Amino acid sequence: MSLGAVLHLGLHALLPALFAWFLFPKRFLWAACWLLAGCAIDVDHLLATPIYSPGRCSLGFHPLHTLPAILVYATLALTNKPFRLLGLGLLVHIALDGIDCLRMTCIARSDAVSTQPDKAIRPDPTPARAILLNQFTT
Ligand SMILES: [Zn+2]
Repeated sequence: MSLGAVLHLGLHALLPALFAWFLFPKRFLWAACWLLAGCAIDVDHLLATPIYSPGRCSLGFHPLHTLPAILVYATLALTNKPFRLLGLGLLVHIALDGIDCLRMTCIARSDAVSTQPDKAIRPDPTPARAILLNQFTT
C-alpha cells in the first residue's frame, strides 16, 4: 500500500476524531462514533471491480459518492444533533476523498510532463531553423 493510500485512510479516522475532540470534548466518544459513521458510505466500493483501486477517484464513480448523495449529506448536516454529526462526518469523508482525487490528478499531470520532456522543454524548430539545419546537413 502506498504512502498516499495510508495517509488517505489515516485521515479518514483522524479528522473525524479531531472534529469530535474540538467540538464535543465532554462527549468525545459519542461524537466520534457519529462522525466516523460517515466512513460507512465506502460500502459502495463493494459494487466496483476491483473493490479498491489506488488510482481511481471515488467522487462521481461510486453511487454514494455522487452529487445527489452529497446533497443528501449536506441536508442531513442541517438537521438535528445526532444526524447533524452524521451529515458532517459524511461531508468530511467526501472532502477527504476530493482531496485524494486532486492529489491523483496532480500526480497524473506531473507524470505526463515528465514522460515527455522533449516536448515540454524544446519547441518544434521554426521553418527558418529547419532550412538552416538542412543546408548544413546536406
Ligand atoms: Zn469514500
